[in-house]
Amino acid sequence: MLKFDDKIAVAVSGGKDSLSLLHILANLERKQPKSTVVAITVDEGIRGYRDEALRMAARTCRELEMKHYVFSFKELFGVTLDEIVKRQRQKASRHLTACAFCGVLRRKALNIAARNVGAYRLATAHTLDDEVQTIFLNMFHGDVWRLAKEKPVTDEVHPKLVQRIKPFCEIPERETALYAYTRRIGFQSRPCPYASEAFRTDVRVMLNRIEEKHPGTKFTIFNSMEKLRPAIEMLAEKEGLVECSKCGEPTTEKTCRTCQMLEQLR
Ligand SMILES: [Zn+2]
Repeated sequence: MLKFDDKIAVAVSGGKDSLSLLHILANLERKQPKSTVVAITVDEGIRGYRDEALRMAARTCRELEMKHYVFSFKELFGVTLDEIVKRQRQKASRHLTACAFCGVLRRKALNIAARNVGAYRLATAHTLDDEVQTIFLNMFHGDVWRLAKEKPVTDEVHPKLVQRIKPFCEIPERETALYAYTRRIGFQSRPCPYASEAFRTDVRVMLNRIEEKHPGTKFTIFNSMEKLRPAIEMLAEKEGLVECSKCGEPTTEKTCRTCQMLEQLR
């Protein structure tokens, strides 16, 4: 995933996974003088939650003497997640969950952030647990295209898209937690206030129950997916990426999902 002269932006939320990843990559960076690691945090604008996480991320970066860049939804998209949720809840008609908005906007924000700091690669701290949950979520949503594309190292498909890597994809979440505890890394342990709305929570509970009864299941699912992926990729339509007519970011449609969502809010 990494090269000796890489410039890596680590997506840091302030939770145990991302701060552990930051520590490990900082250690590797010291051994590779030509490499650079910087931290980027996306501030979605979740009052009473993200501000605490931001402080923890900033503190770790100071300890590691690492550059830390913060990009907010407000600056990038003109609206905070709290404001989005408020507007959505006022609507009588069917509304999207906070996580549906946040997922799309955060993905875009991270790419813009990584590109702006000049990173060659964007490292995210998705663990084995996250990866397996995503496999199921994509299946439950019937999203075969995502199933094929959500892989540990993304393809380089567009000059404006920074390659994403997931160094923890085969590390169970329990082990990143253990690492953070043994290294005495201070992290935010409270879940996001909007997380209970997410389908992902149900999938997590289901998978943890199965894993408890049948240890090793998560690894098996992950490995099965790795073997299946080449076949699924052949089925999934080739993505023809164009630049969004509104914001200029790469998208498969005329207008990107972020711009569509922001338009819908107005
Ligand atoms: Zn757009």
